[in-house]
Amino acid sequence: MPLSEPIDALVIGAGPAGLMAAERMAQAGRRVVICEAKPSPARKFLMAGKSGLNLMNAAPLDAQIAQYAEARDWLAPMLRQFGPDQIRAWAEALGQDLFTGSSGRVFPRAMKASPLLRTWLARLDRIGVELRRGWSWQGGAFDFATPDGPRSLVPQVTVLALGGASWARLGSDGAWTGYLAARGIPLAPFQPANMGFCVTWSSHMTAHFGQPIKGARLSAGNQSIRAEFVLSAKGVEGGAIYALSRKLREGAPLSIDLFPDLTQGQITERLARQPARLSTKNRLRRALKLDGARLALALELARDIPAAPAQLKTLALPLRGPRPLDEAISTAGGIPRAALTDGLMLQGWPGTFAAGEMLDWEAPTGGYLLTACLATGHWAGSHAARF
Ligand SMILES: Cc1cc2nc3c(=O)[nH]c(=O)nc-3n(C[C@H](O)[C@H](O)[C@H](O)COP(=O)(O)OP(=O)(O)OC[C@H]3O[C@@H](n4cnc5c(N)ncnc54)[C@H](O)[C@@H]3O)c2cc1C
Repeated sequence: MPLSEPIDALVIGAGPAGLMAAERMAQAGRRVVICEAKPSPARKFLMAGKSGLNLMNAAPLDAQIAQYAEARDWLAPMLRQFGPDQIRAWAEALGQDLFTGSSGRVFPRAMKASPLLRTWLARLDRIGVELRRGWSWQGGAFDFATPDGPRSLVPQVTVLALGGASWARLGSDGAWTGYLAARGIPLAPFQPANMGFCVTWSSHMTAHFGQPIKGARLSAGNQSIRAEFVLSAKGVEGGAIYALSRKLREGAPLSIDLFPDLTQGQITERLARQPARLSTKNRLRRALKLDGARLALALELARDIPAAPAQLKTLALPLRGPRPLDEAISTAGGIPRAALTDGLMLQGWPGTFAAGEMLDWEAPTGGYLLTACLATGHWAGSHAARF
């Protein structure tokens, strides 16, 4: 029989949402134990640090709230209580000097997560938060596999912060959906968000895998963006693709304008000035300075360019669906708002709250993911502390 231990406050999952919930509860005087399945905490947060740790965004708060689409109304009070301004102050109090980069993205000057995480964990330790590593929740209320065998915890109050269902090797494997379903909690199916898409390339493209396409404008449905994307053996990925990924996931076709600064007329005129004896490839090179991966992409997607040069502004890239869920930057789906109280407690499971990417919201990249994880962690922790 597993040993059973009564505790005051339990947090399961030591990602940013769980650590924030733990901090709130400890500040409110609760004795907090965090159980983390992995041997070390916040592995996805550290991974986010590999690309600089885009912690938040500097856009006006209302514009940021709008990024959460269907979830904006219920997330708004949480983002107003602990949103970008508060996250900035919190990160600075943890010794992070922040700067605002392109499109309002805010990063620590250190361009990584480890210094912030180190200081944060030390602060949590000082206020009495206990972190148990290698403690993996197996369901029930609350059974764990631990390095010392099975154990059960009997908490007064709990915050679940187990993450979404991508990058399972970093901890968020989505196994918790089975544990919540067993308690009759309804869940929205997971879907990839901020992900790449599959493309079947011809062999001509192989030499260009890994290369960025710069300076193009991409459109899907009523959304368009001028940003970089990357060609890969499996398809396309990178900032511009992630930004359009929700529309693309919902079936909008992807259109690429390789020359957003030229009109159709200018393209036609420049190509027409080239001698007819030149190959299409050389005409594109000379008239439009197209080379490398951009040239290869034009030749891959366009048919008979000299006869219809305007198509270079509306190249259709046929996608064969999203890359697998596990590769996505984030996941949509999880615990729907309807399964939660205003304080983020699970309906029908008194004393058990949830926060972070487990909840059913999605947002583009730009700092909005970590912002909502911290905001919901703060909100759930504050309400749980009073339970
Ligand atoms: C490559 C990459 C780059 C990213 N970059 C950014 C960025 O720059 N800006 C941004 O805003 N967002 C970024 N994100 C997204 C962001 O990291 C996540 O949205 C965020 O980490 C989710 O926080 P969370 O606390 O909800 O869950 P997680 O960070 O996933 O943490 C959940 C924790 O729960 C633990 N856990 C899971 N199951 C159990 C269990 N059964 N028992 C015990 N513990 C368990 C996990 O091990 C994990 O430690 C990035 C994501 C990826 C993959």
